[in-house]
Amino acid sequence: MKATMPSIQDIAETDEIISQPLAIEGGPQANPDGANQKELFHWPIVTAEDEEAILAVLRDGSMSDNKITKQFEAEYAAHLGVKFALGYANGTMALAAAMWAVGLRRGDELICPSLTYWASALQAFSLGATVVFADVDPDTLCLDPNDLERRVSPRTKAIMVVHNCGYPADMDAILRLARRRQLKVIEDVSHAHGGLYRGRQVGTFGDVAAMSMMSAKSFPIGEGGMLVTDNRSIYEHALAFSHYERTRDELTLDELKRMCAPAGIPLGLAVGGVKGRMNQTCAAMGRVQLKHHARRIAEIQRALNRFWDLLEDTPGIRPHRTPVHSNSTMGGWYNPVGHYVPEELGGLSVERFVQAVKAEGAPISRANTFPLHLHPLFNSADIYGDGKPTRIAFSESDIRQPPGSLPHVEATLSRTISIPWFRRDYPELIALHAAAFRKVALHYARS
Ligand SMILES: *Cc1c(COP(=O)(O)O)cnc(C)c1O
Repeated sequence: MKATMPSIQDIAETDEIISQPLAIEGGPQANPDGANQKELFHWPIVTAEDEEAILAVLRDGSMSDNKITKQFEAEYAAHLGVKFALGYANGTMALAAAMWAVGLRRGDELICPSLTYWASALQAFSLGATVVFADVDPDTLCLDPNDLERRVSPRTKAIMVVHNCGYPADMDAILRLARRRQLKVIEDVSHAHGGLYRGRQVGTFGDVAAMSMMSAKSFPIGEGGMLVTDNRSIYEHALAFSHYERTRDELTLDELKRMCAPAGIPLGLAVGGVKGRMNQTCAAMGRVQLKHHARRIAEIQRALNRFWDLLEDTPGIRPHRTPVHSNSTMGGWYNPVGHYVPEELGGLSVERFVQAVKAEGAPISRANTFPLHLHPLFNSADIYGDGKPTRIAFSESDIRQPPGSLPHVEATLSRTISIPWFRRDYPELIALHAAAFRKVALHYARS
């Protein structure tokens, strides 16, 4: 599909759309066919090539083998330019293994942004460690390095960096701090596969990175996860955690061999007490997806940049995207959001704005995240029967963070909106979606 800017005629028509009464007040919809534009949003993109690769695994009966997974790991490592990649059943497990592999243990603290999916943090509990949440930068919605510094304590072991909604976190500042305070850095790349930070792929900055590859992510293989690192010891620890069937052949560190696969005992065991192997139907799909990934996310970037360019200077909404010419990109732009500025729309609530844009035919919602530091599981739940909330069971003090403690994260509830996640760059259709936003914003800016 060729990317072209909307013609002069399209833009003239868009202006006409924008001047009409709002659909929510009985006017005509800006994008009446919005709900039917399936191809614009369809994901994952699966072709006969994926189908053939998966069928070959099924016909061979090798779903539980590792041969294809190892090929996928080697190709993924080469693609990122890292030494080691290790496939997992899902991203949650890959992150759990990364936490243990960097040395997170009982009583340690993991610092994590509060604005992320739970699997960036919650696994720390099952290691006897706990989580301290940090605030985000209000523009990038990723870890704010200044707040991060304030969260470091003598118990801090590692920092979980999340490239939230595709935006690459401020790695220079985070790595400087980590080096100075001797902390490990784990990157959660589940939102940002293929994204660049200053020209280099995210996932190659920390001591280790892990990413989900479930079907909704911008690198979709069904269900799966990957752990990547340049550090042999971290790689072997991650393997020992969950890949029992590989401990016998692949471990070289004596300490790990003694634990998992001592000489004379025919079985290898997994120290994590969990099984992490990737299903090879997923590995086979991953090998195919990898070939097309760069091209597909480039199209997504063109589409989303086009959408935001059309909305330049629209009151009440601002793009959440990396600056042009910054050499940093939004990857596959997972779960795209925009900043919402109610002051410019007469104080209109985000709920009302979203309802009005939806009524115009755009498939959006409020941003679908919730600050983790306010969730009961991180405040009151006693998961392991310690007689106190798990969050503080092994802490010296009550490290829980009450409402008001992370203001930028909490503000996102009323100051972010989701935007349509275009997977194809169809200029005419994208212009209609942008028109729905612009129509609503201009209406409330005037009234
Ligand atoms: C999806 C996601 C995960 C978990 O990955 P699964 O493959 O679903 O287990 C972890 N972290 C983030 C930020 C995610 O979005």
